[in-house]
Amino acid sequence: MKIKLLDGSIKEFNQSASVRTIAETIAISLKKATVAAKVNGRYVSVDYVIEKDSNLELITNRHEDFYKTLNYTAAFVTGVAISELYKGVKLAKVLYKQDELEYGITFEVEPRIGLEELQNIQNKVNQIIKNESILSKEVDLKEAEEIFKENEYQLHLAKEMFETYGEITVYTLNSVSIVSKHPITLNLKNIKVVEVQQLTGEYWLNDSENIMLQKVHGMAAESNETLSSKKEILEDRRSRDHRIINKTLKIFGFDHLVGPGLPLWMPNGTIVKEEIKKYLKEKEWEYDYINVTTPVIGTVELYKKSGHWDHYGEDMFQPFNGGSGSDEQFILRPMNCPHHVAVYKQEQRSYRDLPLRIAEHALQHRYESSGSLTGLERVRAMELTDSHIFVRPDQVEAEFKSIYKLITEVLETFNIQIDYLSLSLRDPEDKVKYYQDDKMWDEAEAALEKVLQDLNIDYKKCIGEAAFYGPKLDIQIKTAQNHEITVSTIQLDFLLPKKFDVTYIDQNQEFKTPIMIHRGLIGTYERFIATLLEQTKGVLPLWLAPNQVEIIPVGSKENFEYANEVKKQLKKDFIRTHIDLRDERLSYKIRDAQTSKIPYQLVLGDQERKDNSVTYRQYGSEQQITVSLEEFKNMIVGLICNKK
Ligand code: ATP
Ligand code: ZN
Repeated sequence: MKIKLLDGSIKEFNQSASVRTIAETIAISLKKATVAAKVNGRYVSVDYVIEKDSNLELITNRHEDFYKTLNYTAAFVTGVAISELYKGVKLAKVLYKQDELEYGITFEVEPRIGLEELQNIQNKVNQIIKNESILSKEVDLKEAEEIFKENEYQLHLAKEMFETYGEITVYTLNSVSIVSKHPITLNLKNIKVVEVQQLTGEYWLNDSENIMLQKVHGMAAESNETLSSKKEILEDRRSRDHRIINKTLKIFGFDHLVGPGLPLWMPNGTIVKEEIKKYLKEKEWEYDYINVTTPVIGTVELYKKSGHWDHYGEDMFQPFNGGSGSDEQFILRPMNCPHHVAVYKQEQRSYRDLPLRIAEHALQHRYESSGSLTGLERVRAMELTDSHIFVRPDQVEAEFKSIYKLITEVLETFNIQIDYLSLSLRDPEDKVKYYQDDKMWDEAEAALEKVLQDLNIDYKKCIGEAAFYGPKLDIQIKTAQNHEITVSTIQLDFLLPKKFDVTYIDQNQEFKTPIMIHRGLIGTYERFIATLLEQTKGVLPLWLAPNQVEIIPVGSKENFEYANEVKKQLKKDFIRTHIDLRDERLSYKIRDAQTSKIPYQLVLGDQERKDNSVTYRQYGSEQQITVSLEEFKNMIVGLICNKK
C-alpha cells in the first residue's frame, strides 16, 4: 500500500501497518514524537492499523493539532478520575475548542458533585498521568452496544461515529471506556501537566430539552512553562472580553423574559451609540448620502420576491399575521435591502440621479441559533449602519473606491485593528449557489480587483465566499475570543434590481437596470461596540466616554457648591459630567474613577474655588494639573471636537 505523508512524499509498504510502525520506519525519533495521527482526515491513535492506500498526518508537537490531542486526552483522563472517585458515573463528551484553550468533560452522576471535589479529582488525575497508559480499539456497532450497554451517551456517540466512519474508536483506561472521534494519545507521558479548573453544567447535545450534565474544565500542556503561557493568553482574552468589560461600564444588558439575544442598551451604551451615530451621519453627509426611514416589518411577499425568504428560512423570525382574522402575513425584516429598493422605485430615476446613496441606520432581526449568541457580538435584534447605493455600470469602480475610503476613514477614527480584507468571489464551478451570468461575474470581479490593486491594498481572495447575488469585500477582525467576524462590508448586487424591475432612463431615453451596492459602514452598532470595547479594553476615548469628567469636591460645603457650578459650566458645552457626592475618602474616589475608566477627574478644594480653577488628572496618569476652568473647558471641547 502507498502512504502519502504531509510533505507530499510517498512510502510504500508490502502489508498493513500501524501508525506507530510507519512512524518508526521513517525515523525512530518520529515514533517517539508522534502522539496521534490523522488518516484520510480522520483522527486515530498510534495503534491504528492502516490497510490500504492512505493520506497520513503524524501529530507531533509541530502539528497544529498537538494541543488538541493533549487536551482531549486530559479530558478523558479527568473522566476516568471522576469514574474512579464516584459510583455510577456515566461519561458523556470530551470537549476542546482550539480558541478556548480549555478542555471539558461532561458526565452524569448521582448525587451531583460539588466544587470542593475538584482537588480530589486533580490528585487522582496526577496519579493517573504518572502511572497509566490508554488502549485504543476499533470496534463495530455490535461490540460498542455491548461495551456501552449502560451508558446511553457513549451509545449515541458510537452510533454517530459508525454512521460517519463505519468503525468506532473506543479508548480504555483502567476499565473505563469512551468513544472518541477526536485525537487521543495513548502514552500519558506526553502530557506533563493537567490543571483541573472549574465545574459547570451543560445540556446534553446543547439542547435545553435534554438533561443538564455536569462538566469539569481544565487545561493540559507538555510543560509547566507552556501551561503558564497559555493561561496568560487566556487571562488576557478574558480581560478583553466585552461581556466582562461591560460589568464595569454598564453598556448593555439582557433579560431572559425580554428574550435571549435581544439587547437592552443601558444609559451608558445609549450615549456611546448615539455619539457614534452622530459622527457617522456627518461622514455620510460629507459623502452625499441621503437618509430615509423605513418600517422594521414587511410582507412575506416582499421577502419572497427578494429571495431572502428562500435564502434565510429558519434564520428569520417566522411570519406573523396582521390583525386577528386578517390573513396578511408579515415578517420582521432580516435585511433592509427590499425596503430601500421600494424607496428607489417611488420615482422614475434618470442616469443623472445616479449614484443614489440611500442610507438608513436600520433595525433588523435575525433568529440566530441560541448557541451562537455572544453578548453584543451576535444578537437577534440589531441596528445596521446600512446603505444601498444605486449606480450605473460605468460608476461601479469610482463608487467602490469612494465607499472604501469612507469606511477606512471611519475605522481609523476609532483606531480599529483590522485583521485582513477578504475579497469574496464566486466559485465558477458552483452552478447552484450563484446567479448564473458568467460575463457579469467576470466583469464585476475584475472591477473590484482592479480597485483594490489601484489602491494598493492587501487582501485575501476567498473563492466560493461571494454572496449568491455578487462579489463582496469584507473587513475582518478578530475578537478577544478569537472569533473572526465581519465589521464593514461592501457587496455588489446585480440580482435584486432585476428581480424588482428597478430602472433608470439613460441618455438615449432607454430603460436600464442599475447595479446595487450594499454597504455596511461599521456593520451593526451591536457588533461594532463589542469590538470597540474589546480593542480599547474598555478605555473609551474622551468623545465616546459615557461620563467624560468625574468631579470630586473636597472640604467645605462651598466647595460642593463650586462643583455644581463647574458642572453647570461644562454641561453648557455638552460635556458629560458627574459629581461624586459619596461619603468616601478622596483616594477611594480617585481609584474608583480610574476603575470606571473615566477620562478626566477633577478635584475641587478651597484653592480651586477661590481661583475659579480646576485640578485635573487624566485617566492612566499620576500627574495633577491645575488650570483655570475656562482653559480646562476649552481643552476638553477641543479634544472632543477632534474625536480624541
Ligand atoms: P455573519 O456571517 O457574521 O452572520 P452575515 O454575513 O450574515 O454575518 P451580513 O448580512 O453581511 O452578515 O450583515 C452585515 C453586517 O451585520 C455584518 O458585517 C455584521 O457586522 C452585522 N451582523 C450580522 N449578523 C449579526 C448579528 N447576529 N449580530 C450582530 N451583528 C450582526
Ligand atoms: Zn442590503
